[in-house]
Amino acid sequence: MDVESKAMSEVFQNYIAGQWVESKTKKTFANINPANIDEVVGAVQASGPEDVIAACNAAQKAQPGWASLPAPRRGEYLFKAAEILESRFAQLAEEMTREEGKTLPESKGEVKRAINIFRYFGGEGARQFSYKIPSEREGVICYTIRKPLGVVALITPWNFPSAIPAWKMAPALVAGNTVVIKPASLAPLGAYRLVEALHDAGIPAGVINFVTGGGGTVGNALVDHPAIKAVSFTGSCGVGADLYEKATRRRLRVQLEMGGKNPTIVLKDSDLDYAVSVLINGAFFSTGQKCTACSRAVIEKDIYEPLVEKLVAKTRKLKVGNGLEPGIEIGPAVDASQLQVDLDYIEVAKQDGAQLLCGGNRLKGGIYDKGYFVEPTIFGGVKPGMRIAQEEVFGPVLGLMVANDFEEAMSLANNVKFGLAASIVSNDLKRVHQFIEGIEAGMISVNLPTAGVEYQLPFGGTKESSFGMREQGPLALDFYTEARTIYLKYTQ
Ligand code: NAP
Repeated sequence: MDVESKAMSEVFQNYIAGQWVESKTKKTFANINPANIDEVVGAVQASGPEDVIAACNAAQKAQPGWASLPAPRRGEYLFKAAEILESRFAQLAEEMTREEGKTLPESKGEVKRAINIFRYFGGEGARQFSYKIPSEREGVICYTIRKPLGVVALITPWNFPSAIPAWKMAPALVAGNTVVIKPASLAPLGAYRLVEALHDAGIPAGVINFVTGGGGTVGNALVDHPAIKAVSFTGSCGVGADLYEKATRRRLRVQLEMGGKNPTIVLKDSDLDYAVSVLINGAFFSTGQKCTACSRAVIEKDIYEPLVEKLVAKTRKLKVGNGLEPGIEIGPAVDASQLQVDLDYIEVAKQDGAQLLCGGNRLKGGIYDKGYFVEPTIFGGVKPGMRIAQEEVFGPVLGLMVANDFEEAMSLANNVKFGLAASIVSNDLKRVHQFIEGIEAGMISVNLPTAGVEYQLPFGGTKESSFGMREQGPLALDFYTEARTIYLKYTQ
């Protein structure tokens, strides 16, 4: 959308070499509130390759100085930035709801999480554990140290505009790398605010650089720049696969976190009301726009009918609307195109023979006409061959599958190309352990929704959902550092 055609509140610039700067293209694009498309949240830079080159050059220049700073002192910048973010908490949460559409409580949770991530990795400045390993030889000490990679490129999606940029940039920085980050065009302000906080915390010029603009243009220029040593990407499988090819041609280190088709298995011993709350939380909160959202419920046949009855009744009562309003549980789709994807999949599911149990429509009338609202939707009788059982929708659409027993439930749950998150609802200890051992997913929950992970634990999937090392928690530094092995003989 052309910025001039809408009333503008604020123009957000790129951040390169410690300066807030306009793009060399002199072009911007509008960031629109998906719950009220009359509202422009801001204008962001439509950058071109020249901006990316400037950012990468600045990061390259700053890297040796940043790496030579003792790691605990690098961590102090993260602590300081966390304090600054906390002082702006209410503003950041509200802005996130306006730019991405998630409800205000969800935005608050995400901003808090970004702050926690900065603090966690600030602490890593004083840890960064390596190995000391006994030598076979007398008088020899053997150990490893961690070295930063150099300049790293971070490419992030719109659905967690603050948390995902935070969980990439914080470990990258504390390890001694310098960073160029390209956030999603639909929701760049979460990352902007993190960079602003680092700037206000006094981080040296060139250590963190921020460039907005179209994925292809900015992304390609980033991967092509000779200073870049690694790319950490979160987004769709298609873009991830292309990026992987380009990046590995240059032998760059690559980390990809992509889509999911996450199942929740509900066994017959479950408390049905509890199972309903797990499914609703996993499938519909954040409008189903979480990579870890539950999009398939695999239910043991003995409880299928009563569970579905309760689930549909509760889903019909969910309040959809502008996430800034109190009591709203589900916000809009992030834009017109995601809304269309949701509606298209609903049609595909019907044509494939799934049974529409509730929802299925775009919401219309009143405030709904101003935004991209879709009803939370449930399909029953979903079969493994249907597209709704296999493909990521990334919206509030849940497919229900019946399993005759636990073994069939496991086989249905694993019968997809994805392997990000999975959960089970059951108190049967034996089944729960069999699930933990046998489910093909990187993040496994018991009596909890598939979504709802914590910042201090490793994050990542298996199969086509992920590639490369884990993000977050104690394993995150592995991606951003290279081990060096030392043999030191202390006598001659
Ligand atoms: P996307 O379209 O793949 O975009 C992700 C990022 O890549 C954006 O910054 C995008 O820029 C950029 N991009 C687009 N084309 C590019 C190219 N050719 N080269 C380099 N970068 C390019 O994904 P999305 O729609 O933002 O996010 C939704 C997807 O992310 C879903 O599939 C979801 O499952 C996945 N996701 C996964 C995780 C996880 O950790 N596994 C977490 C969250 C989301 P523009 O915005 O400018 O196009």
